[in-house]
Amino acid sequence: MSEAAPRDVVVVGGGPAGSATAARLADAGHCVLLLDRAHFPRPKPCGECLNPAAVAALAALGVLGAVQAAGPARLRGWRIQPHDSLAFSGSFPDDVNGFALSRAVLDEILLDHARSRGVVVRMGEQVTDLLWSDGFVVGVRTRAEEIRARLVVGADGLRSIVVRKLNLLRRPPRLRKLALAAHVRGVGDLDEQGVMYVHEGGCVGVAAVGDGTANIVVVAEGEEAAHVAGNRNGYFDRTVRRYPALSAAERIEEVLATGPFDWPTRGAVADGALLVGDAAGYYDPFTGQGIFRALRGAELAAGTAGAALRHGDVSAAALAPYERARRRGFGPGERVQRLVEFFVARPDLLKAVAGRLARRPALADALIAVTGDLKPVRSLLSPRVLARWVF
Ligand SMILES: Cc1cc2nc3c(=O)[nH]c(=O)nc-3n(C[C@H](O)[C@H](O)[C@H](O)COP(=O)(O)OP(=O)(O)OC[C@H]3O[C@@H](n4cnc5c(N)ncnc54)[C@H](O)[C@@H]3O)c2cc1C
Repeated sequence: MSEAAPRDVVVVGGGPAGSATAARLADAGHCVLLLDRAHFPRPKPCGECLNPAAVAALAALGVLGAVQAAGPARLRGWRIQPHDSLAFSGSFPDDVNGFALSRAVLDEILLDHARSRGVVVRMGEQVTDLLWSDGFVVGVRTRAEEIRARLVVGADGLRSIVVRKLNLLRRPPRLRKLALAAHVRGVGDLDEQGVMYVHEGGCVGVAAVGDGTANIVVVAEGEEAAHVAGNRNGYFDRTVRRYPALSAAERIEEVLATGPFDWPTRGAVADGALLVGDAAGYYDPFTGQGIFRALRGAELAAGTAGAALRHGDVSAAALAPYERARRRGFGPGERVQRLVEFFVARPDLLKAVAGRLARRPALADALIAVTGDLKPVRSLLSPRVLARWVF
């Protein structure tokens, strides 16, 4: 069955990227349909930390009040604890903070916001293919029907079907990491700090998410990931118990697993389609910037897509300003992510860097500000900051 009149936009995926893009395009007067294969709340392995830039993006979207009313935990910075070496802490500037909040709550708030802006949301509808006409994407196929739209937004996360059907995956994912996530009780007061323990073969991230509950993500790298096979609960519990500060942690749910993480795309636009959020490209969750990029990407995407729809031209060329804005906005941060992953995978180097950062708190603050998307990457290269690295 095929719908007669095409909608303006069909958004595939109702996570932060899809909900925010849909809400913004509906706000601009477009007729938007959002499809998600899941029924929310759906399992989504995530560290659930919103960095200060993500908080600002929630405010810009108009949902900060609803997020605050949901009682998130405040996040003032991060402590990084490499195995067998000094820990270092970095704080966000005094006037800003991040939040940590369960994804079940956050994603529902964002989806409700999209509904309130007039987006038609249909859950439990999996997109299986794209519809084409003369080389242009003109809609999507679900298990039940064909839906025509002037523009298709792929916001369907890692392993996006939209990316694969557009042939925009640059190469198969190869960052061989596996992440295990669960909520726990009993880790005590984290003093509004996230903590990242780094050990040979992986790391453990901990953040309070409110209501006496904490989120723990265990990452197993490379060959270590093979030890998880078939026993994700056991591996998670064993790894968490390695750390005395977490020995009282009591897991309150089944462990969720995900990996590999990287999702290298060749671009984020095509004739009649664009990609946003993880679908548009993803590297590594260590620095926890994904939700900010989903929300900020939605803002950039909706700006370009809105203009393209108004002018009646949704070709890749008309959508290209979005692609360029993404490169400018996210490119430098991605290079920092790669650098961080380089050090995390080399314990001796990390130990040396951690020692230096522990002795120079201002330098640690500068690094945390960059990974928190508060300061541009070039701020790490200013003469003042460079001098702190050297002396
Ligand atoms: C282990 C881990 C820890 C992380 N920790 C953090 C953190 O602390 N802070 C942070 O900011 N980021 C973190 N991230 C990244 C963050 O989770 C993502 O960047 C964010 O969820 C991206 O949002 P999205 O909307 O693009 O995708 P998603 O949230 O994944 O949403 C995609 C949606 O698309 C739907 N979908 C998929 N396929 C189809 C289909 N065929 N048809 C219809 N619907 C479909 C899915 O059901 C899903 O609801 C972490 C990631 C991982 C893996």
